[in-house]
Amino acid sequence: MKPSPAYGPGMTIGVLGAGQLGRMFAMAAVRMGFQVHVFAPDANDAPASAFATQSTQAEWSDEDALRTFARTCDVVTLEFENVPLASVDVVEAFAPVRPGREVLRITQDRSLEKEFLTGCAIPVAPWWPVNSEDDLRAVAAELQGSGLLKTARLGYDGKGQRSVTPDAGELVAAWRDLGEVACVLEQRVALATEVAVVVARSEAGEMRTHPVIETRHVNGILDLAEVPASVSEDLQREVREMACAMAEGLNLHGIACLECFVTTDGRVLANEIAPRPHNSAHLTIEACSTSQFEQQVRAVTGFPLDEPVLLESAVMSNLLGEHVPPEEGATGAWMRAASVPGVSIHLYGKHEARHGRKMGHLTAIGIGVDEARGRVIEARAALTEPHAAASNE
Ligand code: AMP
Repeated sequence: MKPSPAYGPGMTIGVLGAGQLGRMFAMAAVRMGFQVHVFAPDANDAPASAFATQSTQAEWSDEDALRTFARTCDVVTLEFENVPLASVDVVEAFAPVRPGREVLRITQDRSLEKEFLTGCAIPVAPWWPVNSEDDLRAVAAELQGSGLLKTARLGYDGKGQRSVTPDAGELVAAWRDLGEVACVLEQRVALATEVAVVVARSEAGEMRTHPVIETRHVNGILDLAEVPASVSEDLQREVREMACAMAEGLNLHGIACLECFVTTDGRVLANEIAPRPHNSAHLTIEACSTSQFEQQVRAVTGFPLDEPVLLESAVMSNLLGEHVPPEEGATGAWMRAASVPGVSIHLYGKHEARHGRKMGHLTAIGIGVDEARGRVIEARAALTEPHAAASNE
């Protein structure tokens, strides 16, 4: 490995993955004077490349390409937690990877993640590991009400999940449907709301959290993210403390997001860890003194972490394939959305607008969350209801 470089603008930060998170990371890093080199297998799906100073397109298994990439980097971070550990090992021989292999090993597997959280005294919803039909039959009796069967690995945005009841036959059918892979069965908990928080941790163990964000999901995909969260100050403190305990336990060097359930009886249960920037915190670009992406740059380069200050109330809405206007009439639709006060448009440069695919997001600021939410919903509606909007003009 190279000797620790004199960190500063001009150094090269490598990024494993080149999606929208890498894109917004690259925008922050390039603005601060760093070089950014992204590595990703699919050139057609690499939104980060437009802002990177260098891009490598190669498979995760291409060790030569990984080595060549790593040699150009002073430090490497990631925007995608499912980078194969073997690829991380190749890169790590040349440049530090932040966060590193152990963080990825834990967060790539829901069972390991839940065991880790429990070990940190962070509560999670009741769950059972499932590796066979016998496991399912054994746990069927313990599941109360309904549950979710989730693949242990590679699930995201509600994918790789089935809603289930304690009926053993139904559980087995759901498991077969998921491909009979290692799963976790989770008790469905009664949700009052959901929250998420980004925590940054430096090599020396210094930690900073962003404001707690409230999240609203539709069909398992984040729909709206809102700040400040409507939950009590005490509950927000509890969430931040959990995130710090998680970061400490992971020996995190970088940023991570902890997603939590808030139950109707007032408990906070950790749901998932993302060891990278997170969709719920995109609104930190407009709402905070330092965005999650700048904080990631700071954390991985050894710059001082900022104590992020909330400047504005803000609401972010995702733009999925079904939310973006068809090509015909698109310009007018985008103009109508942009004319709503306080709205910022973020598009990721993806060409194919598939249903459920994250194409971009809108963030609206406002005097209070209600105003910001009203604005962002109005702007998103203007994209897909051009005729209704036009008739009001
Ligand atoms: P996940 O992919 O595990 O983050 O799940 C996506 C969304 O499904 C969560 O944000 C919740 O809205 C919902 N969900 C997942 N697991 C549970 C659970 N155990 N109880 C209630 N809702 C859940």
